Amino acid sequence: MRLLFLIASLLLAAITVAQTQKASGVADFISIDTPVFVLEHVRVIDGTGTPAKEDQAVVIANGKIQFIGPEESAQIPPGAQRMGRSGYTVIPGLVGMHDHLYYTDSYSLQVVDGKVGEPGLFIAEIPYTAPRLYLAAGVTTMRTTGSLETYTDLKVKSRIEANLMPGPSIDATAPYLEGAPTRFAQMHELTGPDDAKRMVDYWAAEGMTSYKAYMNITREELGVAIRQAHAHKLKLTGHLCSVTWPEAVALGIDDLEHGPVFLPTPNSSRTRSRTCAQQVVAEAAGPNRT
Ligand SMILES: [Zn+2]
Repeated sequence: MRLLFLIASLLLAAITVAQTQKASGVADFISIDTPVFVLEHVRVIDGTGTPAKEDQAVVIANGKIQFIGPEESAQIPPGAQRMGRSGYTVIPGLVGMHDHLYYTDSYSLQVVDGKVGEPGLFIAEIPYTAPRLYLAAGVTTMRTTGSLETYTDLKVKSRIEANLMPGPSIDATAPYLEGAPTRFAQMHELTGPDDAKRMVDYWAAEGMTSYKAYMNITREELGVAIRQAHAHKLKLTGHLCSVTWPEAVALGIDDLEHGPVFLPTPNSSRTRSRTCAQQVVAEAAGPNRT
């Protein structure tokens, strides 16, 4: 099935800052740069769960969809570029909910005899390739869901917004809210609830737009982080272990990643933290999720 993604940001970019793009390389990724055009004879899947509709026309003007409906009832604006796309399917741009700007493929190389050397597991940022790959896969909006090179993530976001590089609209997630001990060289270890509040406030001020709690956070740190994120009108998700999902839900967490990876038994937070640290190393030897 051939797909056309309705990429509002790129369409807008194509229309408003074409000159800038020509200099930046963004233009290489834009196949339509006329302000008013019609995709004709396409199949439309609108994402609401209704059945696909055949032989549709989609009229787009100045970056916005003006009409979607049967070809025979389409009002084609004068001067519109008409593009017959029989055999293609149009879908909304995808929203990537867990799209990191880094890659974890080297984990297994860093674990020797079940142990990770100091200063811990490290992960490579891929700021050039990742946004392009997500966009190529149809993702037009994405959440980074945990940051390791946070200022790089912010730079990628700002460069995309300025039409200086191709990529989806980015909800930039702050650095992992991780407790001690972490096995990752690039993660800060929270020292308590006050530190959790400080982290949330700082990264909100820097322009991050969501948060992610990680495996060794304590219940007290998580509770403060959730409250403070909500005070900034931002959301917090979690890849948890030391705090159970029911506990996190009771604390008001907005979202949960992966899992189930929590331990069901109500052990002390300290005991569970050690277990979670060991679990990270065990996972590092095989397929991994961060
Ligand atoms: Zn992840």
